[in-house]
Amino acid sequence: MAVIIDGKSLAKEIRENLKKEAEKLRDKGIIPHLAVIMVGDNDASKVYVRNKSRACEEIGIEFKEYLLPSTTKQSELIELIKKLNEDKKVNGILLQSPIPKPLNIQKAFNTISPEKDVDGFNPYNVGNLCIGQDGFIPCTPLGIMKMFEKYNIDIDGKKVAIIGRSNIVGKPMAQCMLAKNATVTICHSRTRELKKEVKDADIIISASGKRNIVTSDMVKDEVVIIDVGMNRNDEGKLCGDVDFEKIKEKASYITPVPGGVGPMTIAMLMENVIKATKKQNNF
Ligand code: NAP
Repeated sequence: MAVIIDGKSLAKEIRENLKKEAEKLRDKGIIPHLAVIMVGDNDASKVYVRNKSRACEEIGIEFKEYLLPSTTKQSELIELIKKLNEDKKVNGILLQSPIPKPLNIQKAFNTISPEKDVDGFNPYNVGNLCIGQDGFIPCTPLGIMKMFEKYNIDIDGKKVAIIGRSNIVGKPMAQCMLAKNATVTICHSRTRELKKEVKDADIIISASGKRNIVTSDMVKDEVVIIDVGMNRNDEGKLCGDVDFEKIKEKASYITPVPGGVGPMTIAMLMENVIKATKKQNNF
């Protein structure tokens, strides 16, 4: 029976430490400030942004939301980002995805100043991660690395299979694992034999958004399972990518959904905002 990795309590512990860090900054008259841009009307995004706003409030980070209509032009979005780049009060800028189709989100990410890019999606930070230089690492992979650290899970020399190659999870996750000396396989929708690719893995990180993509017969004994997926089951309840109930009998460690990776992602956003604030103030 696997150890269930408790992302919720680890995230709480991290937020408590960040609160102390924010207090120290505030004592020096420095108020950490996160600007969040949302374009259009997306219910899921509203929930994510509300959760981020609550976390900011708890820690003592100023939170300002910019709601733009779905008719917003690319140039208007870019203008707002440039204005926030210039604004000395703003330490972190986050553009909530998705944004309406005609807009190019990567062009918008490219405009966010690397020093304020707390999501780590600007190519400058992507590049830093690839070459092992300090920068901002996307929050979900960063949170997963913290879980490995907290639970003393060895990565060095291990076979890691990642399911998903998105810019926000799969690819940066692969870089983080590579930096810790894992042998990494990245799987995606064109992978021919997923089972064959993951069966031998010591660690499986699934970020496909496909329910039950990983079943018990696909994994080896003592595998470590990190489930990033956020899906709905037949009863409408939140669930991950993997068959949790069966796999937990076989695995050595497993993250639940909810209560695993999700809370860590928000905690890491908060950590990145504090990091940005400190750097910008030579603190
Ligand atoms: P995404 O951009 O849709 O990427 C999904 C990836 O999975 C793609 O690379 C896709 O391959 C791959 N994939 C889809 N079906 C597959 C299949 N049958 N076999 C193998 N690979 C397959 O999604 P994302 O933004 O990375 O997010 C992935 C999941 O994680 C979603 O459920 C999302 O809600 C969740 N998520 C959770 C958190 C959190 O904090 N808990 C944070 C971010 C995302 P192709 O590239 O070939 O299309």
